Amino acid sequence: MLRSDAMHRRADQGWIEVICGPMFSGKSEELIRRVTRYRIGRVPTQTFKPSLDVRYAVGEVVSHSRLTTAAEPVADSAELLRAVEDRTVVVGIDEGQFFDEGLVDVASVLAGAGKKVIVAGLDLDYLGRPFEPIPSLMVRAEYVTKSLAVCHRCGGPGLFTQRVVDSDELVVLGATDAYEARCRRCYDPAEAVQTTLEVESA
Ligand code: ADP
Ligand code: MG
Ligand code: ZN
Repeated sequence: MLRSDAMHRRADQGWIEVICGPMFSGKSEELIRRVTRYRIGRVPTQTFKPSLDVRYAVGEVVSHSRLTTAAEPVADSAELLRAVEDRTVVVGIDEGQFFDEGLVDVASVLAGAGKKVIVAGLDLDYLGRPFEPIPSLMVRAEYVTKSLAVCHRCGGPGLFTQRVVDSDELVVLGATDAYEARCRRCYDPAEAVQTTLEVESA
């Protein structure tokens, strides 16, 4: 009796998993893999993404390798919290870096309520700065996976997301052409700006 109660508590245990890294490092693939695995095991899942990310499809998470899973677009972390159903056990969240800072508390509340929260997102912005709320989420997570891409230039470990078009916007959406994965040797945050200056002086 006591033993089965203890086992029951363990099965009900919630936690936070973070999958971070640059663009093209397979974060969405890994999120889709983890969520799909639970879904095949008949564990109730829900997957969310920020509604500003409508790159390929409104109701889906789509990886660069075209894996997909159904996803509900939500405007912010408060809307996400309201949208999670009681019966849901696994909560997948893609593009976590596009959420507000409230995502850290929302993920913690959900994990405290026994849900397994899996968040994928960029840990660095295109200028190589910590991309909140992912770093804050990482220190509150039980499990952190750092994915690396292949450096588009030399094949080395791609840690950074290099913007290769000129824009000062923190978020340039829609164009995968606008970014490359780069290793620490090949990464140069000033590159996109330099390209523009060369064009102007030509
Ligand atoms: P993320 O969500 O981290 O941006 P995705 O899961 O959407 O990444 O896509 C990962 C896939 O992108 C890889 O499996 C591969 O097919 C493709 N890909 C394109 N460019 C690269 C690269 N430079 N390094 C690794 N994978 C790449
Ligand atoms: Mg992705
Ligand atoms: Zn390189």
